[in-house]
Amino acid sequence: MVLTGAGISTDSGIPDFRGPNGVWTKNPEAEKAATIQHYLADPDVRVRAWQTRIASPAWAARPNPGHQALVELERRGKLHAIVTQNVDELHQRAGSSPQLVVEVHGTMFRTKCWDCGEEGAMEVVLERVRAGEADPACRSCGGILKSATISFGQSLVPEVIDRALTVAEEADLLLAVGTTLAVYPVANMVPRARFAGAKIVIVNAEPTGYDDIADAVLRGQISEILPAITAG
Ligand code: ZN
Repeated sequence: MVLTGAGISTDSGIPDFRGPNGVWTKNPEAEKAATIQHYLADPDVRVRAWQTRIASPAWAARPNPGHQALVELERRGKLHAIVTQNVDELHQRAGSSPQLVVEVHGTMFRTKCWDCGEEGAMEVVLERVRAGEADPACRSCGGILKSATISFGQSLVPEVIDRALTVAEEADLLLAVGTTLAVYPVANMVPRARFAGAKIVIVNAEPTGYDDIADAVLRGQISEILPAITAG
């Protein structure tokens, strides 16, 4: 199985969060908007959040050879699951089967009403923002809309994280790509997989929290390393 984080999508032009060119390094206000308490309490935070969503480079991003290498791994029958911390759907757009992709932090392509829970297509709501609604409300109940992603301060979906931990324990090998393995409980997948007997391979530009228990650690450009691994 593969666990992916922001690092696999930076070669597609989607910046990570805390790296030198990270979204929150350059704009601490954006981190505030990512906190659910601020988002719910402050209409100004929501207005800015909708403007940030409209301008996101992720809408135009295309999968890179790193994503494509995982499609190849699946085609050869070697891939049981992709657990991703990313919300950009680039695995699915590259051609990975949607049923293999476990989105632990949700997806930016959907909206969810905080009050009634109704979900919808993000594009429909972005169209309302472009037409002049600064903070569009849920059309069913008038509640607060946000992207169907997990913000800071918001709980993960229990069934989703359970599935992620289960596939980690079932794996022969866990390949962690583009994540510093610092966010829990997702990072727990690594020691759980290890304890269940899996090999651990880490591909990341920077050191991670679990390099010491990995069987192999590969540093460098993910979009070059992954195709090299899966070609073998
Ligand atoms: Zn609603």
